[in-house]
Amino acid sequence: MPFADIVGHERIIDILRRALAARRTAHAYLFAGPEGCGKRATALAMVQAAFCGGRDACGSCPACRKVAAWQHPDLRLLEPDGAFIKIEQVRELQRELYLRPYEAPFKACIVEAAERFHTAAGNALLKTLEEPPGSALLILLSANPDGVLPTIRSRCQAVQFAPVPEAALARFLAGRGVEPGAAALASSLAGGSPGRALELCAGEALAGRRGLLEEVLALSPGEIAPLFAAAERLAADKEGVLGLLDLLTAFFRDVMHLQHGTREIANLDLEDLVRREAGRRSRDQVVAAIDYLLAQRRAMARNVNARLMLDVLFMRLAA
Ligand SMILES: [Zn+2]
Repeated sequence: MPFADIVGHERIIDILRRALAARRTAHAYLFAGPEGCGKRATALAMVQAAFCGGRDACGSCPACRKVAAWQHPDLRLLEPDGAFIKIEQVRELQRELYLRPYEAPFKACIVEAAERFHTAAGNALLKTLEEPPGSALLILLSANPDGVLPTIRSRCQAVQFAPVPEAALARFLAGRGVEPGAAALASSLAGGSPGRALELCAGEALAGRRGLLEEVLALSPGEIAPLFAAAERLAADKEGVLGLLDLLTAFFRDVMHLQHGTREIANLDLEDLVRREAGRRSRDQVVAAIDYLLAQRRAMARNVNARLMLDVLFMRLAA
């Protein structure tokens, strides 16, 4: 996917383009930002641009197509084998980086989940980050940059990605033929992730929201068994938990908007539920719920125990 097709991140892309055009890219980058916001797509676009001829990629030449399909012989993916990236994986990568590139001007490696280097593996990589053989380009990705070994972090140029703004997501969905109502709704629920926004439009997730919300809002601290049973069932699916947190955040944001007299709500089809909760909860409770939801969204990037998190979340919402 060339830079031009990436949703949002204009400032970052501009900086990377200039660096590519001037052939002044860093040896190693750390792309940090929330899950699904476009770090990996931007990294691939950067490799494409570099292999296609600098600044931007055409998207259609053999080099561009091979990079997009992860089939380019000079592009490597390094990702955790089990829980960690291990030292043998780093050694293997290093052996490969010392070979001459087959087709591209240099070799490139994209590292997924850079917070999951085993300490020994991370230490083994330090020299490569400082002086990659054959001017290789290394792009590390992490949704939890605080968890990246400081020795690795300090050797990479940090690039901080933000969630993609709702307006940009809505334009992106409209460009794919999604009708405006669904596009507005999906972009407000997607937590800044183009991929999640597309999923929401494709699946039955939008239609299933009402049932899920009604179930969660009906939980009561007086009946603990159904509350924990719901938490156990929903915690089984990590993606589903993220979706639930986004759904609840967008819902309570609408409740807050209504309580403060604005009619701008995203969940238009759920207006009856929004009104009911706006009447049932104090403004402070609603703000506290949103704060808590946002904190849990961030905590999920650090692999918190989803079951425990949902137990506590449901207790708080029910109280
Ligand atoms: Zn090309």
